[in-house]
Amino acid sequence: MSSNTRNSEFLARSLSAVWHPCTQMKHHEQLPLIPIKRGEGAWLYDMDGKRYLDGISSWWVNLFGHANPRIGAALKAQLDTLEHVLLAGFTHEPVVELSERLAALTGHRLGHAFYASDGASATEIALKMSVHYWRNTGRPAKNRFVSLTGSYHGETVGALAVTDVAIFRDAYAPLVRGGTCVPTPDARLAEAGETAADVARRAAAALEAHLAEHADETAALIVEPLVQGASGMVMYDPEYLRLARALCDRYQVHLVADEIAVGCGRSGSFFACEQAGIWPDFLLLSKGISGGYLPLSIVLTTDTVFDAFYDDDTARGFLHSHSYTGNPLACRAALATLDIFAQDDVIAANRIKSQRIGEAFQSAVGGHAAVRHLRQQGMILAFDVTDTPAGFSRRFFAEALQRELLLRPIGNTVYTMPPYILGDDEIHFLASRCAAALEASLA
Ligand SMILES: *Cc1c(COP(=O)(O)O)cnc(C)c1O
Repeated sequence: MSSNTRNSEFLARSLSAVWHPCTQMKHHEQLPLIPIKRGEGAWLYDMDGKRYLDGISSWWVNLFGHANPRIGAALKAQLDTLEHVLLAGFTHEPVVELSERLAALTGHRLGHAFYASDGASATEIALKMSVHYWRNTGRPAKNRFVSLTGSYHGETVGALAVTDVAIFRDAYAPLVRGGTCVPTPDARLAEAGETAADVARRAAAALEAHLAEHADETAALIVEPLVQGASGMVMYDPEYLRLARALCDRYQVHLVADEIAVGCGRSGSFFACEQAGIWPDFLLLSKGISGGYLPLSIVLTTDTVFDAFYDDDTARGFLHSHSYTGNPLACRAALATLDIFAQDDVIAANRIKSQRIGEAFQSAVGGHAAVRHLRQQGMILAFDVTDTPAGFSRRFFAEALQRELLLRPIGNTVYTMPPYILGDDEIHFLASRCAAALEASLA
C-alpha cells in the first residue's frame, strides 16, 4: 500500500471519529487535514515527511520549539516521580515552586496562585472570585462585568459573557448573561493627527462614563493587555492600561488582565502589564506557560482578594475545583519553561529577534499595495489585507501550507506568533513564504 493511500485512509478515520475544534467539518471536503507525525524546533513534519514552519506556535502555546530537550527531560523525571495527586488537602513540590516563582515575577504583588487546565476556566475563575470577593465584603450587587469591544476571553458559557466575537457567541446568546462592552483602544482607529495614546484616552473616557454610572453593580473590567488576539491582533497603547487601572481604583472595580495569549514574554516583557507599569487584581496565564506541552492555566491574585476569603466559614472560601487542578506534570513543564527564560535571558534575546522579524516583514510585504497596518508588539506581528476575495483566510492557509508554512489568518488579518527560537534563516523563510502565499491568495 502506498503511503498516500495509507494517509488518505487515516485522514478519513480522523474526519469520521474526531470532531475538530474551530472548524466547519464540511470544509474538509476541500481542505485536507494535515496528519502530523513529529515536531522538532520550529518545524512540524507530516506523515509524508513534508515539513511546515510553525508560524503560530500551534495556537500560540509553543514558546521554545517542539520536542524541546530541556522541557522533555524535566517531564520525564517528573513522570517517574509523581504524575498526579489531588490538590485539595494535598500539595507537592512543583505546584509550590511554580506559585512562588510566579509570585516573585510579579514582585509579590500577585502572591496567590489558583490553578486550572485551560484559559476559559481561568477567565471563569477570575470572574467568580471577583463576584465572590464583593459578596464576602458586603457588596453583592457588584456582579456585572465590563470588557472591550472585540474582546476574547474563552468560549465556555461563563467566559462568553465577556467575549465579543459574534461567530463564537451568537448561537449561544440565550445561555449567556452578557456583560457590557466599552470601546476598544485599537490604535488603528486614530484619526488624522491623533496618536495611539490619544485613541487610548478616548476609549478610557468611554470606560469612565460607564463606570461613573454603573460602578455599584460592576465587579470587574477584563482586558487583554496590549493585544486583543482572537479578534485580529488588535494592538493598543499602554496608556489605556494606566488609565483603566486608575479608573478601576477610583470606582472600586477589579481589573482582570487576561495574559493567556500575551503573557510569558509574547508582548516583549514577561507580563504585558509591565509595559504600562501597572498590576491588575487578577492576572491570567495559560497557553505559553507550560511551554506548549500540557494544559495548564493559572489565576494570580493579591493578598487583598485572598484575605477576603480567609474565614472559619466554609461558604466564604473559594470552593471552585477541577479534577486536574495543579497537575504536577503541567507544573513541571511550566518550571522548565521558566528555567529557560532565566538561563537564556529570553526577554532580551527576543528584543533582537522581534526587531529582525519586523525588518524581514517590512521588506517582504511592507510595500505591498494590499497591505495595511503592518504592526508589531514583541513576538506578534500582523497586517491587514484589503480587497480580499471571498474565503481569503482559508485560501491563504492552504497557499502557505503548500510553501511549508503554517499561518492561519483571522479574517483578512495575517499574523505570525512564532516560537521564540527562530534563527535568522527561519525568520527570512517565514517572511518570504508569507509574502508568496499572500501573492498567491490574491491572484
Ligand atoms: C486562548 C485564549 C483564551 C482561552 O484559552 P483556552 O485554553 O482556549 O480556553 C482566553 N483568553 C485569551 C486572551 C486567549 O487568547
